[in-house]
Amino acid sequence: MLFPTTIAGSLPKPEWLAEPNMLWAPWKSKGDELARAKRDATMLALKVQEDAGIDILTEGEQARQHFVHGFLEKVDGIDFAHKVEMGIRKDRYKAMVPQVVAPLKLKGRVHADEARVARAHTTRKLKFTLPGPMTIIDTLADSHYGDRVKMAFAFAELLNEEARALEADGINMIQFDEPAFNVFMDEVPVWGIKALERAAQGLQCETAVHICYGYGIKANVDWKGTLGSDWRQYEEIFPAIAESSIQQVAIECRNSKVPLDLLALLKGKKIQAGVIDVASDTVETAEDVVKVIEAVSKFVPLSNIVATTNCGMAPMRRDIAEAKLMALGAGAKLARQKLG
Ligand code: ZN
Repeated sequence: MLFPTTIAGSLPKPEWLAEPNMLWAPWKSKGDELARAKRDATMLALKVQEDAGIDILTEGEQARQHFVHGFLEKVDGIDFAHKVEMGIRKDRYKAMVPQVVAPLKLKGRVHADEARVARAHTTRKLKFTLPGPMTIIDTLADSHYGDRVKMAFAFAELLNEEARALEADGINMIQFDEPAFNVFMDEVPVWGIKALERAAQGLQCETAVHICYGYGIKANVDWKGTLGSDWRQYEEIFPAIAESSIQQVAIECRNSKVPLDLLALLKGKKIQAGVIDVASDTVETAEDVVKVIEAVSKFVPLSNIVATTNCGMAPMRRDIAEAKLMALGAGAKLARQKLG
């Protein structure tokens, strides 16, 4: 089937689970009650995707507060109590970050609960997202390894451990989110890709990497304003990704300033093309979706196109996110009729 559909990863959380319409939303309950609420929200996330005709589902990242820290919480060797200020994304903004103070080790499984709930409640394919090593080390201070690349590879090993366990839980695709790839472009070909391959080592399921220009938060919007009208940053990193063992690349295409001809640099890869804009509340029509797929198909063979959202939908309003899911499902269906 042409143009299977998926989402970048996250969906908004119901207001009984967490404060709505924000990143880092505080949980509404704790202990066993919170665990039950996360499971219920996970099932709901699957249901709205199924109803919209989405083919490769995610658990909507309902059980984690943040796409990076959801992983870090389960890692030993990090001091969360003594945060230090660090420039994030090459100093685009400052944040108080935890420090790595000892050898890194997983405390146990990170995402077993939600992965198993998801597997038990859908027969469709499941994709699971994990943060990539380069993005992880850009949110932490190093007070132990003395070498950020070494620290990245230590994280890659832990990611690999969890990714293999997710595969054993019945997950069909592991996607690593690497927004840092378009910040440290010069480092991607040197070690970023290798760290990613280490994280994916030995996986039999499909593998993907999501790169993007970030959520619509102010620091990102201001930064995007400095990039001009033609975003060619990916030109530096796509050749290295093309040569890697990672099979799919997820990037924003709808309302994007990334020239789509750059996709030709990703020869042989499946492209998860973002056909839904997550920085705008305007709900796309099916025809809008077809137009993006058509534009992408000038540079990517039809059989290698997967339709997705530009980025995560965590901070959106639920009704808008659900309407956008419907547009995604309907748009891919219409594209199959028109282009198939
Ligand atoms: Zn993204």
